[in-house]
Amino acid sequence: IQVANQIAAGEVVERPASVVKELVENAIDAEASEISIIIKEAGLRSIQVIDNGKGIPADQVNLAFKRHATSKIFTSNDLFRIRSLGFRGEALPSIASVSEVTMNTSDGDSSTEIYLKDGEIVDQKASALRRGTSVLVENLFYNTPARLKYLKALSTELSHITDIINREALGHPDIQFRYVHDGKTLLTTNGKGRVNEVLAAIYGFRQAKDMVAIENDNLDFRVSGYVSMPTLTRASKSYLSLFVNGRYIKNYKLNQAIIKGYGSKLMVGRYPIAVIYIELDPQLIDVNVHPTKQEVRISKEDLLYDMIRDAIMAALQPVQR
Ligand code: ADP
Ligand code: MG
Repeated sequence: IQVANQIAAGEVVERPASVVKELVENAIDAEASEISIIIKEAGLRSIQVIDNGKGIPADQVNLAFKRHATSKIFTSNDLFRIRSLGFRGEALPSIASVSEVTMNTSDGDSSTEIYLKDGEIVDQKASALRRGTSVLVENLFYNTPARLKYLKALSTELSHITDIINREALGHPDIQFRYVHDGKTLLTTNGKGRVNEVLAAIYGFRQAKDMVAIENDNLDFRVSGYVSMPTLTRASKSYLSLFVNGRYIKNYKLNQAIIKGYGSKLMVGRYPIAVIYIELDPQLIDVNVHPTKQEVRISKEDLLYDMIRDAIMAALQPVQR
């Protein structure tokens, strides 16, 4: 079992940022309104995610660390309807197989503390937590030296973590996020549901003020979000974020639509900061493209491309009276 979990871990847990992503998405799935992420040494020493979500009943805690024992739905495209981020029941057992995990969780009635090493439960007892869940992951990859070796410089691993957290915060402006690395607070969001305030928290108030709202609707799609002015651009594509029904996705073609929207206003090699939310009928989407669920196929993608490009072109047009 341990070997199977470690093999699965190879797919799910590529680097510290993957652990952060899975734990934060579990907190979101648990309907948390506040999520704290506390990282030490770019996640290699420890990753802790604390939420005020619904917790796990005492008699189900050990199940959460069994493979495929998910409490969530299974069929792929339901994800985009029900908005549950996890669905394979693989993350916790995978993480536990390559680290030491201490989970504290309470559903309001019962509270449990469980400690696992090498994927095995070492200790399980009652805890004092009142509500929510805290997952502490220590010594990641200590038992998979090959994986450890493959990691990049700490600063690179940290920037992957920051990318993930920024995107989760942008995808969930109604959740209060707090992100601390080695004692330093790197992000706090207010959970008030306003994307421009999350943008200000991430990029700074002045930058966020220079971003413009975009919007475009038709029968199939609703597109909204913010894009930076052509004067405020970056040298990296990583500032482009697309969300479909609340889930962050990667899509080369739609990224191109964003860039097209700027036309000749964008200097070669520069990219805007853009956060685009796409709402659509889940029927229009196929998520079974890649195990990380980040790559999706969208029907009528050409139409969506045009809508995004046009929305940006319209928003960047100087107001004429
Ligand atoms: P998945 O998210 O794919 O269901 P995971 O391995 O990530 O699988 O989690 C297993 C199960 O543990 C979840 O289905 C959920 O029931 C429970 N769980 C994990 N994290 C939390 C959390 N922060 N709050 C409440 N329940 C959680
Ligand atoms: Mg999960």
